[in-house]
Amino acid sequence: EGSFGPYSPAPFMPCDKEFLVLIALRDGRHFLHRHVTLDVVFGGERCGRLDEVLAFAERMRFPEHGLILREREHGSEGQEQHKGISDPDQLLELAEHLLGRHGSLWACTDQRAMLNPTRMTAIAATAEGFVKEMSTCCPACGEVHFAVVEQLTGLPCAWCGTPTEMVRALVRGCAVCGHRSQVPRADGQVAADPGKCPSCNP
Ligand SMILES: [Zn+2]
Ligand SMILES: [Zn+2]
Repeated sequence: EGSFGPYSPAPFMPCDKEFLVLIALRDGRHFLHRHVTLDVVFGGERCGRLDEVLAFAERMRFPEHGLILREREHGSEGQEQHKGISDPDQLLELAEHLLGRHGSLWACTDQRAMLNPTRMTAIAATAEGFVKEMSTCCPACGEVHFAVVEQLTGLPCAWCGTPTEMVRALVRGCAVCGHRSQVPRADGQVAADPGKCPSCNP
């Protein structure tokens, strides 16, 4: 399942939040993996002219990425709406039709994975991360999915050592025996850019 919306640390940037769930039918256990990426093709725009529709389509990497055209921004019952547009002739025809009939239209990306290859890449990355987390086993009891359960902030500033808001370490935990252990950041970074320091760059 995925959702698109503002990225909370920088709300002016859109992000894709994907999650995958694995359910073990043998005993009903659930395993969950989340992945957030800023690499998205996601947007919507009101257009009053055909050239605006075409410029928007080009920015949204159409026709590789599918579009939706409808009368109004917010979906309401009974409004004219065309989903899954991925053919340039069809886009022209539907845009001319909607503009002629309603004077303007709302164009937006179709976020369904089969129409958005950028989202397909995000789902693949989610699956790869999930496999890594699933195959990390608890050092205490050997159970699978010794996964990251917490991120500890306070990565020290490279100049003065003051703790910053950046992640310092990860905590992995076992859902079966409760064992927890602290591990370094995956990228190996041990000091923060002084630009992120509350003391060097207040
Ligand atoms: Zn500093
Ligand atoms: Zn364990």
